[in-house]
Amino acid sequence: MATYVQLNTTAKMPLVGLGTWQSLAGKVTSAVMTAIDSGYRLFDCAYVYQNESEVGEGIQQKIKEGVVKREDLFIVSKLWCTFYEKPLVKGACQKTLADLKLDYLDLYLMHWPCGFKAGEDLFPKDDNGMCIPNNTDMLQTWEAMEELVDAGLVKAIGISNFNREQIERILNKPGLKYKPANNQIECHPYLTQEKLIKYCQSKGIAVTAYCPLGSPDRPWAKPEDPSLLDDPKIKEIAAKHNKTPAQVLLRFQVQRNVIVIPKSVTPQRIVENFKVFDFELTKEEMATLLSFNRNWRICAMNMSKAHKEYPFHAEY
Ligand code: NAP
Repeated sequence: MATYVQLNTTAKMPLVGLGTWQSLAGKVTSAVMTAIDSGYRLFDCAYVYQNESEVGEGIQQKIKEGVVKREDLFIVSKLWCTFYEKPLVKGACQKTLADLKLDYLDLYLMHWPCGFKAGEDLFPKDDNGMCIPNNTDMLQTWEAMEELVDAGLVKAIGISNFNREQIERILNKPGLKYKPANNQIECHPYLTQEKLIKYCQSKGIAVTAYCPLGSPDRPWAKPEDPSLLDDPKIKEIAAKHNKTPAQVLLRFQVQRNVIVIPKSVTPQRIVENFKVFDFELTKEEMATLLSFNRNWRICAMNMSKAHKEYPFHAEY
């Protein structure tokens, strides 16, 4: 099978990449280097992860060593919600580029549909702990994203955590110049996202699955939460293929043409997570994994629940 998805820009986006949320600055440079040595070409970054400079060091070092060329890599980053006012977008993108030590990104995403008050504080909150919104219309932010393509700073633009209605609003925008190339959403067997994936793919918008392993290191994990990696039924499928539960969870996505970006800073897991192209889940196994859906959301972004653009009140 192909190891990439072709975007509506015609660029090829690898199906498996390395996630970098919560990858500590002291560990992520070597994680990126291990990943490149293991065959990864896609890296998922974001300004809000506050480690883009260290990610960039790993990329830079491997380019210097001659292991990869810039054009072999597919680097994704995301515009944070405090930069949604039109005049702030270009500077935010340039800061990310400088940190990553790159002169262009392959893909730049609006991280959430919700804009936050501009300023130093990345998570501006009111006295009730709810986010302080910024009321810039998302279509205005999208226009500024389009300008980044025209300026040559990014090859493609996309969205993350957008629901169907929000995507439709962009697609129906009068004078739309560039359609979103990608929607990055939470997806795993407890949140299978069948309707949203079908909708996006039908519109030529590639889908990326985040938290594909259930994000066991999320800061708000509770002992009673379900665990994909410990699910006996997922372990059973893995054993049948002589694979690990993580490999089954990743294969589940690539087999539906969904890009997947597992995070790890552990060398042996980085290698393991890339080995998903040498086996195939049966139709029945895919159906079984889909049947585990329980609409369990890890990244619910509760502080934005009252925001007018909160994406998860809608069914999908
Ligand atoms: P994840 O990839 O589902 O899980 C990462 C966790 O699983 C880490 O604790 C990692 O540990 C562990 N792990 C990795 N490989 C493993 C393996 N083979 N066996 C057992 N454990 C393994 O969670 P995530 O980081 O939340 O999501 C992935 C990426 O998606 C993020 O890093 C980020 O780039 C992106 N993301 C985007 C959004 C968004 O709003 N767009 C939201 C969340 C995440 P070690 O690192 O200690 O090895």
